[in-house]
Amino acid sequence: MKRIHCNSRRSFLRTLGGIALSGAVLPAAGSAGLLFSKEGLMDELSVSNSFEPSYLELHRNGTLKARADVMWDMMRDCSLCPRDCGKNRIRGRRGDCNANADLEISSFAPHFGEERELVGQNGSGTVFFTNCSLLCVFCINYDISQLGRGRRHSINDLADMMLTLQRIGCHNINVVTPTHYAPHILKALDIAAGKGLKLPLVYNTCGWEQLEILQLLDGIVDVYLADFKYADPFAANKYSPGAITYPEITRTALLEMHRQVGVPVAEASGVINRGLMIRHLVMPNNVARSEKVVEWIAENLPKDTYVNLMSQYTPVFKADEFPEISRRITRAEYNAAITAARNAGLTNLRLQGG
Ligand code: SF4
Repeated sequence: MKRIHCNSRRSFLRTLGGIALSGAVLPAAGSAGLLFSKEGLMDELSVSNSFEPSYLELHRNGTLKARADVMWDMMRDCSLCPRDCGKNRIRGRRGDCNANADLEISSFAPHFGEERELVGQNGSGTVFFTNCSLLCVFCINYDISQLGRGRRHSINDLADMMLTLQRIGCHNINVVTPTHYAPHILKALDIAAGKGLKLPLVYNTCGWEQLEILQLLDGIVDVYLADFKYADPFAANKYSPGAITYPEITRTALLEMHRQVGVPVAEASGVINRGLMIRHLVMPNNVARSEKVVEWIAENLPKDTYVNLMSQYTPVFKADEFPEISRRITRAEYNAAITAARNAGLTNLRLQGG
């Protein structure tokens, strides 16, 4: 699968108990404990700052719709992700990611488990998409990412979800594992923008992104929340089967993301509305080669690039088929990653308990 080490990107579902595809948004852990209606009882919480997302101008001049159409057409011989599997999704074929042209969504909700700069006071407005292109063997949310748990929805439904998340006060629209549904997301964003959506768009990705797709997202995405999971292509190929290109493609992708949005600068409230935020999950026995990940970032991006070193690896799904990753990490392994990042000169680290 793709994403954060799915281990953390989708783990909020476990704590939230899922959400609200039925029309009501359940409060997340740490929220006020209210039940919000889809019509929105919390309008006063919406959009608490004057930030204008860059996609609004592209909506007004028609570029957003045009780019969505270009991406939609790519599903005829799908090359939306680096697997480039060529399935005709428009005709109903499912690709290696298990997606066809039908939009499938697992949940949407305010999420309080993301980086604090995205959560703010009212939560990050997450939409969790079913299926995934990276197919990690250790994905904690494998039922969603690889077993297809979720429901079919229209693009109008997705636009309504975005508007609902705005109405209940979320600080952003956080599309989680978006790659295979990027055309649907852009179409929904265009509809929602026409109905008043004005939250920044967070593209919450495994990092394994086609340069061509990122170029189509230029000026649409405000925050790239991107994994850099592996520096070792053989580890990538082993634990995300077939993704031997992961390190090479992700390095190119991160450079492009940085070119588009730069180093994030927090608002006075502490919330980040624009910039590149990188996540790296430290894995047992250093199979991901964490020191190579942080060294590359330090050598190729600004030293104050935002880097979240994550310690929550959990051996689930097929991880027990690989003895070297069938346990959690040790404190010493996490400390070694921290030391490597500091020695590389990175100055904007987010660290967790190991
Ligand atoms: S997004 Fe899915 S269908 Fe498209 S190239 Fe990737 S794996 Fe294949």
